[in-house]
Amino acid sequence: MPLDLLAVPPDRADAIRALAADLRPGLALALSTHINADGDGCGSEAALSHLLAQRGIDCRIVNPTPWPTMFRFLLGGPVVDRSADGAAALRDIDALMVVDISDVKRLGALADPVRALPVPRFCIDHHLPSDEPPAIAPRLVADTTASATGELVFDLAQVLDLEIDSAAATALYVALLTDTGGFRFSNTTPRVHAIAAQLLARGVDPETMYRRVYASVSPGRLRLLAEALQTLGVDEAAGLSWISLGAGATERYGVTSEELDGVVEHPRSIAGTRLALFFRDLGHGKVKLSFRSAGNVDVNALAREFGGGGHAKASGALVVGSLEEVQGRVLAAARAHLARTPRETPPVSDAVPVAAR
Ligand code: 5GP
Ligand code: MN
Repeated sequence: MPLDLLAVPPDRADAIRALAADLRPGLALALSTHINADGDGCGSEAALSHLLAQRGIDCRIVNPTPWPTMFRFLLGGPVVDRSADGAAALRDIDALMVVDISDVKRLGALADPVRALPVPRFCIDHHLPSDEPPAIAPRLVADTTASATGELVFDLAQVLDLEIDSAAATALYVALLTDTGGFRFSNTTPRVHAIAAQLLARGVDPETMYRRVYASVSPGRLRLLAEALQTLGVDEAAGLSWISLGAGATERYGVTSEELDGVVEHPRSIAGTRLALFFRDLGHGKVKLSFRSAGNVDVNALAREFGGGGHAKASGALVVGSLEEVQGRVLAAARAHLARTPRETPPVSDAVPVAAR
């Protein structure tokens, strides 16, 4: 029996069709995503701009923070970034589509203007639900089983029979590549590889993508990383590892927020770690937290204790307080959370005594 990995799950296809009913030609549509947009947010926005142009829809991107330099190669043609105009760029739109967000608060300074918008709001997302979703059915495609929002955008193209050209394929590849940690995290499903194969077949070059996304950092990124790694804390008994970054470090090293993506993978890479944390002092009385699970620890539940959220294995939060105070509170909560979470049985290869191997 052939295995059709690309088949769109029926519920997802229905949700896409319901959302698309309102996407009429001539629509002026703003696209937005979370503060400090990542590859999935930017890639989904860029891909949607290409795809919806085929339906005569005029897209503009209006993000709460500037378009990341590292994803500048996705702009051009129908992909227009008007984030610099702020809420003014939302004034003459017919509709708004928010991607890669389940919580309106993640729109930062655009949250209030968006709440006040008199136009229809759409949302395509794969995060766990929050108390304030950016849109409601039938204008919502929310599917936590999707590896990335980009996977849902790929399915939108399939369901609506839109052509994925090489530019759209590049944008979708960036979305999948970054949200799966380079096709390594637990959301790297067989379907993700099947979609990636489709994108490669449309002209995406994986080495070029790798270099642009992971091998284009500034020297300051490595110097900053060296400083952050010096702060490494490990609680071996609990399976907890963390690093932190003091206020002003990004400015000192000339490093952008998007270049900090992946820093939390370093504490996560330590053997025995069940939960990894990255604390970043933003310098104005707020600390940005990244939570990563290595195994069965539900970090979304922990992030929610601090007003954040995300996915079961990768979540974030923005917490008011000094670095020291926030670190104290979060580490205590993390230890309690780990104590409540049953330990997994180790993989068979680990269970075999070294001498017996
Ligand atoms: P990161 O640690 O890379 O910033 O984020 C990890 C995941 O958690 C991403 O899916 C991101 O969208 C989500 N996330 C990050 N920060 C926040 C936050 O402050 N609130 C919520 N609800 N989700 C967040
Ligand atoms: Mn995502």
